[in-house]
Parts: sequence; C-alpha cells; structure tokens
Amino acid sequence: MKIGILGGGQLARMLALAAHRLGFELLVLDPKPGCSAADVAPTICADYEDADALAELARCDVVTYEFENASAAAVRGLARRVCVRPGPEALVQTSDRLLEKRLLRELEIPTPRFHPVDSEADLRAAVDEIGLPAVLKTRRLGYDGRGQRVLRAPRDVGAAWREIGGQPLILEAFVPFDREVSIVAVRSGAGEIRFWAPTENRHVDGVLRISRAPAPGVGGDSLGRAQRRVADLLARLDYVGVMAVEFFLKGGEWIANEIACRVHNSGHWTLEGAATSQFENHLRAITDLPLGSTRCIAPSAMLNLIGGLPPADRVLSAPGARLHVYGKAPAPGRKLGHITVSSPTRVETDCEVEALVRRLGDPALLEALEPVRLPG
Ligand code: AMP
Repeated sequence: MKIGILGGGQLARMLALAAHRLGFELLVLDPKPGCSAADVAPTICADYEDADALAELARCDVVTYEFENASAAAVRGLARRVCVRPGPEALVQTSDRLLEKRLLRELEIPTPRFHPVDSEADLRAAVDEIGLPAVLKTRRLGYDGRGQRVLRAPRDVGAAWREIGGQPLILEAFVPFDREVSIVAVRSGAGEIRFWAPTENRHVDGVLRISRAPAPGVGGDSLGRAQRRVADLLARLDYVGVMAVEFFLKGGEWIANEIACRVHNSGHWTLEGAATSQFENHLRAITDLPLGSTRCIAPSAMLNLIGGLPPADRVLSAPGARLHVYGKAPAPGRKLGHITVSSPTRVETDCEVEALVRRLGDPALLEALEPVRLPG
C-alpha cells in the first residue's frame, strides 16, 4: 500500500518513519527542496497546486496531510481521484479560524467570544462588543503565535490593524486561563475513537515549548465531558485519523482554542510514552488497520528544540531522555527537533526535565518551566 503525504516537514518525517515499520510505500509532496521528510521518503519537490505532482499523488492508495494550509481546492480536487483522509471538509473547517469557531459553537463546545473583522471599523465594533484585553488573529495561515496581536488598551487597536489588517481577521476575548491542555484523539474509518492521556502545554511567545502527559490533576468527569465533545467533533466531520484540540482550562471550564486536523506537536510524547504513537495510529486509521492501544506507559514530557540544537551528549546523559532531530537547517524560531523524557514516575520525569532544562540553559525552556504565566 502506498501513502501520499501533502507537506514534508517534521510531522511527515515522523509519519514516514512509522510507515517504514509497517511496510508502507510513501510519496511526499513539498515545495521546499531538501525538506525534513525528504531524508526518509521519496519526495516530489513542487508546488501544492502543481497538476503533474497532484496526478502522481493521486496514484497512491490514500493521501493524508501534515498541515492545515494545503489549498482546499487542491485537496478537494485530489479527493475526487483518490481517498483523502482526513477528508477535505475537516481541512476547510479548521484552516479558517472563523469557520472553526462557528463549527465549535454549532456543537455547543465553549470557545472564547469572537467576532469576524474585515475592516478597521469592524475591529472597533468588535472591541466595543468583546472588550479588552482581546486577541486579534488572522483567519488563515496563523500558527505558533504568528499573525496575532494582543490588544490591551484602546491605543493598541490602530497599531494592530496597521500590522496585520487588510486580510480577514477574527477578534477573540482574551482568556485568563489557568493552564493549556490538549486532547489528542484518533478515529478509525469505522468510527472507533481512542484518546491519549491529556497533555499540558506550556507556551512562550505563543510557541509550544514543553508538554507534560498525563496532564497533572486533569481527569474525572471534566475530562470525560471534554473527551465527549471531541468525540462529537470527530463524528460531525466523519473524521478519519488523528486530531488534536487545544483547550484553555479556567476554573473547571474547558474552552476550545484550536483544532488541528493532523498529528500534533503536543502528541510527540506518545512516541515513547504511549503503547502506540500518534503517528502509527494515524497511519493505521487511514489504511483501515485496527487502532493500537493509546495507553500511557510512562509519565512523559516533551521539550521542543527551537532555533538551535544542543550537543546530543548533553541531552542523552539524562537516563529517560530520547532525542529526535528533524534534519532541518537551523534558523531563528524554526523547530529543529524535540526531546522526550519518560521515567517510571511523574516526580522522576519532572525532576529529569528540570535538570535537563537547566543543563541546556535555553531561556525559553527555562521560562516554560516556571509556573504558568499569562501570555501576551
Ligand atoms: P494559537 O495560535 O491560537 O494556538 O495561539 C497560540 C497561543 O497564544 C495559545 O496557545 C495561547 O497561549 C495564546 N492565546 C491564543 N489565543 C488566546 C486567547 N484568546 N486568550 C489567551 N491566550 C491566547
């Protein structure tokens, strides 16, 4: 069986590594020469709209994607010729923050209050309605805090409009959350749904730095309710594959921030910390193989390596640490790899993470270790 992947970044690379073990053939499409997945899978270097490249991809048995920004038209076109999983509907609904929020609202899943913004006058009306602080975001192509401005005072409104205005935007109420938690789930073609343990995520400047799973102190009825909401979302989209939903936790309330219709950075810990990783289960789901157990086998943490890579010996001297390098050229802000730490108990894992972060001395990781602070 041959699997096509749109996008050749680190997510495609880790999907490809899992695919090799299962004996699948691969074909990746990415416009960047020497992309991360090209080291481990045959790759066509062409634009996502390139007709010849899409025709080649259409000869696979199933096509998936590693990012939301694939053009909806290209994916819809592809879906007429080959099985695309998750389907184009999921991609369309989640690649636009306004459609995404409306979908969540339709399913009665709480979100921050929001208002579409297409002009400076709309923005002022939205601020009057939602109040300050608020977060102005581009509807499309924003990720890792890019295309976002926090508005704290009325004087920030004009500046934010000048910086990111002139394209479709959304204004959201700023949520003074206690913590951020994501739920990573997989749904099979037959509708079976499995959840990994919830993951606590620490962001610095809008970028994920450290995840911990199972998220300490998250469980019981409130987790069960949040999982049921994610199950509703998966069923509504007739979704096949792995999905991650990021939530803000405030008091006992789960407020949905974002849906990722793909494997997700907050699920990387599953490579070592779960019986079956998110990458393997995504492949199993899209090829109609039985899903693997999502059981957590060790309290785990994941540390993103951004902008530069530490010497491997400094990382691997921690007994529970595993290093994953993505084969990308270093550049400021670029995700180059990650470390997972899995030890027999939560306390051991947390102590190892703390010692490792201090040894690496990365300021953003050090900041992510601190008790949760408000972003912006
Ligand atoms: P996003 O790209 O929407 O996932 O945002 C990146 C990060 O910015 C989130 O993980 C939060 O830490 C922060 N953030 C985004 N939206 C809000 C909001 N409405 N209220 C508070 N913090 C937010």
